[in-house]
Order: sequence, then structure tokens, then C-alpha cells
Amino acid sequence: MLLREVGYARPGSLAEAIELLRADDGARALAGGQTLVNVMKARAGSPDALIDLGGIDELKGIELGADGTLELGAMTTYTQIIESSEARARPILGEVCAQIADVQVRNRGTIGGNVCTSDPTNHLPPLLAALGASFVIRGADGERTVPADEFFLGVYMTAVSLGELLTKVRIPAGRGDGFAAVTLGVDGTCIVSAAASVNGGVRVALGCVDAVPVVVTPASTDAEAIRASVRERAIDPPADVHASSDYRRHLAEVLAVRAVNAASENLPAERRS
Ligand SMILES: Cc1cc2nc3c(=O)[nH]c(=O)nc-3n(C[C@H](O)[C@H](O)[C@H](O)COP(=O)(O)OP(=O)(O)OC[C@H]3O[C@@H](n4cnc5c(N)ncnc54)[C@H](O)[C@@H]3O)c2cc1C
Repeated sequence: MLLREVGYARPGSLAEAIELLRADDGARALAGGQTLVNVMKARAGSPDALIDLGGIDELKGIELGADGTLELGAMTTYTQIIESSEARARPILGEVCAQIADVQVRNRGTIGGNVCTSDPTNHLPPLLAALGASFVIRGADGERTVPADEFFLGVYMTAVSLGELLTKVRIPAGRGDGFAAVTLGVDGTCIVSAAASVNGGVRVALGCVDAVPVVVTPASTDAEAIRASVRERAIDPPADVHASSDYRRHLAEVLAVRAVNAASENLPAERRS
């Protein structure tokens, strides 16, 4: 059976893209297409029109500010992040992007598409939650910046409303970051993931245990303190063919400790305790 006909537009500016999205509630932004096109092929979604963001320069590029803040355009692909000398200011970004799926997905998939999908098994929502990223959203009424804790609202739901676009992801400076996951095969989908940042306090974000990343802030990098902070959240992870709820709960503690250990090792020697 053929797919339903779908409209297509490739605007050259952000303003034009927002206008097209506002004009049709059934229109959807198309970034790398690595989720959206598969959703359409599986007939789980059927947009009226695709607004291809590929021709909008304002959504591209990686900038490193004087204070170490990274600003990534929403259309930056995983491969561009992996290869960017600017993105190496926060090395965990490239390291985690290199673990996503395969080279075809990494060449097409974008940071904006990854977070706007808000799929609990995706790598970037917990990572960006742990790093304290913020998200710049543009609509017809202007621009607003939303912290990670308020960006992810549910499975496939974010603070980006109909008629709006995510334009940039801002990531503050820091080097003490770690990521750990149990996946389906090498570079496969996460069964549970944990991202940690120890730049100042300890911040851990758990993936695949709830609809959105679950952030815990252990009092120290001590393994028992980390495990206790995960237990205190009383998470109730989903069960599926890959893992029971109990097994995910167990993995959450184990991976949180691994992620924090990796983050501590990545701190410059003079800042390790
Ligand atoms: C075989 C395979 C394996 C995969 N494995 C993994 C994995 O292990 N880990 C992982 O993290 N991901 C994985 N993915 C998903 C992949 O990372 C996708 O690239 C990502 O989920 C979506 O990014 P995209 O750029 O392709 O977005 P698209 O598919 O084009 O868009 C996704 C959604 O986001 C919306 N959107 C996109 N950009 C914007 C924007 N700027 N503003 C507002 N809305 C926007 C779209 O309208 C759409 O609803 C896999 C994909 C495939 C095909």
C-alpha cells in the first residue's frame, strides 16, 4: 500500500518555516527524517505536509562562546558534532553521538530532531538533561529559552508547541561528564541509560525509566550515595520484551554509578577529589 500523499516545502528562512507551520496544524517539521519518515512508513503518523528545515542556515552551525558555552543549531547532525573541534569543548557530546545507531543515521539525524522526538530510549535527552542544557524555541511571538528540566514533557511531547521550532541548544562549559548504557547490541537502542555531570555538584539523568529523563542529584560521588539517590526517587520503570521493571530499576542504580565514575575520571586531574 502506498503512503498517503504529503505536501512538501523547503523554506529558506526560519520566519518562512514558522509561517508555513502556523498555517497548517497538520504540517510537521522535517529534520533528518530518521524518526519522522519511519513513523510515516509505519503509518503511526500521517502529516499533511513536511516542512523541510534543511535549507535554513539559521538552524545550522556550532559556536563556542568565550565562556565555554556551546551553541548548536537544531539542524546540526550527529556526525557534525562528532567531527567539530568546537564541540570538543564538551567531549561527551561527540562521544555519545558516536554511539547512536549507525553511520547512515548519524549522517542524517540531528540534535534538534533527537530531542524534539522525546523518545525515552534516545541518547540525547538524558545527556542534555545531565549537562544542564537549555533550549531556544522560536514562534510567531518571538523567542524563549527553556531549561532541560522543563523541555521534556512526555513521550513525543516537548515544550515546542505547534507552530514553533526549536532553533538552538545551549550547553554550558564543563568537562566532568560521563555516560553509561545497556543497549540492544553494540550501538543499539538503550534499555537503560545514565548520563552524569560532576562539574560542581553531582547531577545524574536516567533514561528509559520514565517518559522523560529522571534527574537525581546525589550528595557526593560515593557509590552508595548515588544508589541511595536513585532509590529515593522510587522510579517505576516500564516493562517490555527487553527488560522487566525490576531489572530496569536495578540497571538505573548500576549505570548511575558507572556514569558518575566516568564523569569523575574525565575531570581534569587538578579538579579531582
Ligand atoms: C535504525 C535507527 C536506529 C536508531 N537508534 C537510535 C539510538 O540508539 N539512539 C538515539 O538517540 N536515536 C536513535 N535513532 C533515532 C535517530 O537518532 C533520529 O535521528 C532522531 O530520533 C530524530 O532526529 P531527526 O533529525 O532524524 O528528526 P526527524 O525524524 O526529522 O524529526 C523527528 C521529530 O522532531 C520534530 N522536529 C525535528 N526538528 C525540529 C525542530 N528544529 N523544531 C521542532 N520540531 C522538530 C519533527 O517534526 C518530528 O516530529 C535511530 C533511528 C534509526 C532509523
